[in-house]
Amino acid sequence: MSDEGTQTTRLSPDDAFSALGSETRVRILRELGAAEESLAFSELYERLDLSDSAQFNYHLDKLLGHFVHKVDDEYALASPGERVVEAILSGAVTDEPRLERTATEQRCTDCDRRLEIEWQNGSVEVYCPSCESRWDRSWGRVGGPVEADSGYMGRLPLPPAGLDGRSPTAVYRAAQTWANLELVAVAAGLCPRCSATVTRDLSVCATHEGDDGVCSACESTFAVRLTAHCTNCIFSTGTGAAWGLLATPELPAFLFEQGLNPLAPENPDHLDTVLNDYEEDIVSTEPFRADFTFAVGDEQLTLRVNRSLEVIDTPRRD
Ligand SMILES: [Zn+2]
Ligand SMILES: [Zn+2]
Ligand SMILES: [Zn+2]
Repeated sequence: MSDEGTQTTRLSPDDAFSALGSETRVRILRELGAAEESLAFSELYERLDLSDSAQFNYHLDKLLGHFVHKVDDEYALASPGERVVEAILSGAVTDEPRLERTATEQRCTDCDRRLEIEWQNGSVEVYCPSCESRWDRSWGRVGGPVEADSGYMGRLPLPPAGLDGRSPTAVYRAAQTWANLELVAVAAGLCPRCSATVTRDLSVCATHEGDDGVCSACESTFAVRLTAHCTNCIFSTGTGAAWGLLATPELPAFLFEQGLNPLAPENPDHLDTVLNDYEEDIVSTEPFRADFTFAVGDEQLTLRVNRSLEVIDTPRRD
């Protein structure tokens, strides 16, 4: 390998965070992140406006080799340094913005009342003031699911930067698209946070009564639910099982045919309705087979799945 600093080293989390434990070092990373190209020592030093070049040199040295690399006497972010700057700018590790429960201009597709949103703990939580809840519990990331207020329709992950400069309605739409993209990753078996494998499990409510809102046995309107856990990081999520079909050929093809883009929806509410108001029919438990029927207008698609959420048939319904 070539000169010192070009080789990325593996650090323990303790060493990595202690290397970042200085305002000057974090400023160095941010300046290098904002620069369009690599910077010479003197350029970087000037941008930081420090009084002591020996101190600057000391801090730069602490970052070198892992967060920053040096090529031809110029400095640039290494990939771990880019990730740190991205995390800082997303606000996910520093900001705790407040968005109290606020009405959006988005109408509930069931009752036409205006949906309300609230941002907390890294997610937009969605409520309809007059509908039955879709879930009894909020799948919060800290401490596991907690009891939700009435009318709770679900949570959509959104980093704090997603709130910047957006109206409540725009926040809601951005969160829907962001959540979609996360669920596409989960459906494909990848963690949307760290890219490791997620394990996916179906849970099936044997005594499900979800026609009039949330079932008392499983605390959701969905009899078949998907939970996913990352094998590497702490990411986990839970949804109605049909969202796990977003990476199959059949469901996206049907949605596109009906003019609904499942990746970046122009009409996120319509997509949300189609993907949440599907019919579930548990055909057999041993082996597990369930039919999920999606409807857009008069068009329907039924997908029969096994416990691994593989589509094994597309039965026609009469
Ligand atoms: Zn409603
Ligand atoms: Zn149930
Ligand atoms: Zn992960």
